[in-house]
Amino acid sequence: MQIIEKILEKADPAPKSEQTDTRLNLFGFSRKELETLLGTYQIPSFRAKQIWHWLYTKGATDFAQMTTLAKPMQQRLSEEFVIRYPRISTAQESVDGTQKWLLGFDDRAKAEAECVFIPAEERGTLCISSQVGCTLNCKFCHTGTQAWVKNLDVADIVGQVVHAKTALNDWGKLEEGRALSNIVLMGMGEPLYNYDNVAKALHILMDGDGLSISKRKITLSTAGVVPLIERVGAELGVNLAISLHAVRDEVRDVIVPLNRKYPLKELLEACRNYPGATNMRRITYEYVMLAGVNDSDADAHELVRLLRDMPAKVNLIPFNPWPGAPYECSSNKRIQIFADIVHDGGLPCPVRTPRGRDILAACGQLKSDSVRKRASERSADADA
Ligand code: SAH
Repeated sequence: MQIIEKILEKADPAPKSEQTDTRLNLFGFSRKELETLLGTYQIPSFRAKQIWHWLYTKGATDFAQMTTLAKPMQQRLSEEFVIRYPRISTAQESVDGTQKWLLGFDDRAKAEAECVFIPAEERGTLCISSQVGCTLNCKFCHTGTQAWVKNLDVADIVGQVVHAKTALNDWGKLEEGRALSNIVLMGMGEPLYNYDNVAKALHILMDGDGLSISKRKITLSTAGVVPLIERVGAELGVNLAISLHAVRDEVRDVIVPLNRKYPLKELLEACRNYPGATNMRRITYEYVMLAGVNDSDADAHELVRLLRDMPAKVNLIPFNPWPGAPYECSSNKRIQIFADIVHDGGLPCPVRTPRGRDILAACGQLKSDSVRKRASERSADADA
């Protein structure tokens, strides 16, 4: 019973006066929780499995579509539960086919985050957000200029994926035929500062009877929250990307302020011990090219020295500008020379092609104008 109480306690924190719909949103529950929860309504576990199937392989948005359930059960379920997709605030498409959506997750406050779909020849990648705003304040990142708002909850994270599946008409497809094949946690926010919700959401995305997205097709990107890196490998087993961006603490302290808490040496030590990293499954080190800041030949040689004894690959990201940004992107020639040095040092080093720059959908350009709720509103939520 404890688990149910916990579930019910967490559900719908709306202040009583503002409550319009008190039904529980099914996207917030792990498979086990869903089984337990439905069990309290005398619904057997095979029914929970069927419902899971409807939600995550067929994209059902209504219990009436669940034709394996008898009408009275559909009716009963719809009285207690809801299948709530995120609200689409805006949808944009780039000239290169990249699509960006601003999604709303909370009807009571303005909490919105962006997610981006990037189609390529051999894959389609959905870049999802883990927080609204970010507390890290990396100097080159647009999200960092936005005030911190909130951690996305499990349903909000899963919601981005089910929304994209619907928008891309991607339900019911076999793995080979899917538009959406890969997920990257490289949108707004630091996923390891919202670990519990991110982990639970990833388990839902990876479930073999549901969305069935393989851990090999999911990449979690972190600015380097060292104490949680091992758990990502041991508990989730997804690919790891590290936002490195500098090879000396003096520089990294400035552009990725989290470095003052977890300096390079500790970060690289955690990566060296990352469970599951092999030459076949290398850790990706993201390196944004900022003119005159981190892009010298000496920086490239140091990068090789730091990473050469580990299963690593480097991803060079041309800096994506945003209004008022304090940096400029390195020249193409500089990026090429840098890439050649790293490559000659024995590390794969592709240069990432910017996608969706015209709609501010490229790495580090995401931002929403959500505002944090006032303290009085937050405590009303907590009391409800
Ligand atoms: N907080 C996580 C995930 C979000 S950022 C992290 O730091 O990894 C996803 C990637 O985009 C990170 O590597 C980030 O450093 C990079 N990025 C941020 N702003 C950028 C910009 N303006 N141009 C290019 N890449 C940027």
